[in-house]
Amino acid sequence: MADEHSDKYMMAPITRREDYSPTLWSVWMKPPEALAFRAGQYVAFGVANHDKVLERAFSIVSSPYEPELEFFIERVPEGALSPKLHQLQVGDAVFMRKKAKGIFNVDVKSGHSQHFLISTVTGIAPYISMVRTLARDLKEGRLAQPFRLVVLQGVSKSDEFGYDRELQAAAEAYPWLTYIPTISRPWEDPEWQGERGRVDDLVRKYADNLELTPETTTAYLCGNPGMIVNARDMLRRRGFEQASIKEETYWAPGEGEVEY
Ligand SMILES: Cc1cc2nc3c(=O)[nH]c(=O)nc-3n(C[C@H](O)[C@H](O)[C@H](O)COP(=O)(O)OP(=O)(O)OC[C@H]3O[C@@H](n4cnc5c(N)ncnc54)[C@H](O)[C@@H]3O)c2cc1C
Repeated sequence: MADEHSDKYMMAPITRREDYSPTLWSVWMKPPEALAFRAGQYVAFGVANHDKVLERAFSIVSSPYEPELEFFIERVPEGALSPKLHQLQVGDAVFMRKKAKGIFNVDVKSGHSQHFLISTVTGIAPYISMVRTLARDLKEGRLAQPFRLVVLQGVSKSDEFGYDRELQAAAEAYPWLTYIPTISRPWEDPEWQGERGRVDDLVRKYADNLELTPETTTAYLCGNPGMIVNARDMLRRRGFEQASIKEETYWAPGEGEVEY
């Protein structure tokens, strides 16, 4: 099986796993060949299924500067692959494509100095890679341009953020980063002190309050297709051109509608 597919796939062993909730976890993998990618890209991986590979796309959480690949995954009930991935432990391996793909990268073409990064749940993954990569580039003098990142992440309950502690610490350390976590089911999370409401209902508020104007800002939408449609409409009404809105839709609109 592995031999038949060796031109397209490599076997990537899982080296570490961290669970945040019954359905959300991170895995780290160390493929035998380095995977070339840019922050914001994704790679497809999966498991053997008869004589084929059952695979899906996953955004890469880690920065290209890190030695291992990191992913943030949600187990979708009734999903074909994600329940199988959820069973994998350290030492198990996946069939991973040898090429990363995608154009959901930091916009360096428009000259915009502000980047409004909007996500639901695991849609935070590409933004983590961007933050880690930009922080390193800035520290090592590869980035001259002044910029600002505003990361808005929406989930139902606070155990679904996954990377909130990392982002909060980064936002305290870096003046160019703002992180706004929000939950949509506060009645199930009475301890939560932060922002409440769905991300698409907060896009306008933060665009206004933080002066994320269409002239200076590129917006990024990642994750739930319903959020992407609503947030895009809001941004368009706020004056954003479609060319200034980058989108990474994780599944087909209308299928598997879920709360976020
Ligand atoms: C570019 C790209 C990057 C992606 N990155 C990630 C990532 O970093 N982490 C991650 O967990 N997923 C990511 N996804 C989604 C992932 O590829 C799969 O769709 C997801 O794991 C479900 O696969 P499945 O085989 O279990 O479900 P399927 O059998 O393919 O789908 C079952 C049903 O669930 C719906 N569905 C799919 N995903 C979800 C979801 N997350 N929540 C609710 N319903 C869903 C489908 O539309 C379908 O109706 C990404 C998708 C794309 C296109």
